[in-house]
Amino acid sequence: MCISSRMNCDRHRPIELIEWVIIVLLSTVILHGCGSNPYQTFHGETMGTYFRVVGNCSPTLTQEFLETELEKLTAILSTYEPDSAVSIFNRTLTVGEWMSLDEVLVDVIDIAQQVSAQTNGAFDITVAPLVEIWGFGATEVIDRPPSDLIAGALKRVNYKLLEIDESTRLVRKHADIQLDLSGIGKGYGVDHIAKKLLKQHDCSDFLVDIGGEIRVLGRNDANKPWRIGIEAPDESGKVQAYVQLSDGAIATSGSYRNYRIFDTVLYPHVIDPRSGLPASHNLLAVTVYHETAAEADALATALFVMGFDEALEFAETHDTAIALTTWDSEAEEKRVKYSTAMELLMKSRN
Ligand code: ADP
Ligand code: MG
Repeated sequence: MCISSRMNCDRHRPIELIEWVIIVLLSTVILHGCGSNPYQTFHGETMGTYFRVVGNCSPTLTQEFLETELEKLTAILSTYEPDSAVSIFNRTLTVGEWMSLDEVLVDVIDIAQQVSAQTNGAFDITVAPLVEIWGFGATEVIDRPPSDLIAGALKRVNYKLLEIDESTRLVRKHADIQLDLSGIGKGYGVDHIAKKLLKQHDCSDFLVDIGGEIRVLGRNDANKPWRIGIEAPDESGKVQAYVQLSDGAIATSGSYRNYRIFDTVLYPHVIDPRSGLPASHNLLAVTVYHETAAEADALATALFVMGFDEALEFAETHDTAIALTTWDSEAEEKRVKYSTAMELLMKSRN
């Protein structure tokens, strides 16, 4: 390379292949090493679970910033907070009238409704009355709810009873429905933080994790794609497989963390909005890859509702990367089945 007039330069000599390789390698090191900020890690609590953020962001990113952003989100989306936008929406009895809601709430509803339509109602944020009677809401429940109570709750559960006008972003109820955003809230929170990191804090590489719903971009501090573990569906916290990602989100839904036991029968917290019953099958967990964490989160819940066969068929027809963990009662062991898209994703090195 000719960088000085005192060097013996041949101006007309073409750059050789080995020199190109050196140029490319050097610029990669410089871009990755000097051009970006050092990696930092933040931990905290939100939405009844933990959050973790790792990234090469500017010093403007602080623990306080993350906590404030997540508090602002829960103040809108949490049904546990009586003054949140969603709780106020749940309490209003106005049926049939268009309502203007908080922008974030409308955005979450919009994504949720799209996943509901795509999954034929397996994912449904109007599931709140069922969540309540099965003991996963504010009320403590001691016995299995009787069938008339389930039938009564079911009349108020259907995503089609909630209408959203995409152009005006207004929303209206067609019955006295109530929303539960727990099946999408964590994923939405991950996307929200990811957006902030990109737009306000100059992060080119990051990982955002809220309670196991994860989104990544770029590479880790070892300059490798992020390595995301798919946890075994039990209390062990052991990882049963890894996916290497440099863009996108991974979410898991399962029966192993949150359930009720009535008369020795285990009922998971994911409920089939069509039957009114908790999803009951040999599926222990569903892990989904998607571009956004909100969609991955909602899809994982929907596919858990569907059960093994329907979930696998959905994944194959929609080219979705999923892992299904089942309990083989004869062999008394867990089995993991990957969709074709997940097998490809696991082989790829990004
Ligand atoms: P986790 O919170 O363990 O990540 P999910 O993302 O699957 O699990 O969300 C489960 C929560 O979503 C339940 O606790 C309930 O509040 C709500 N929920 C239950 N069934 C459904 C459903 N079919 N569609 C949408 N939300 C649901
Ligand atoms: Mg979910």
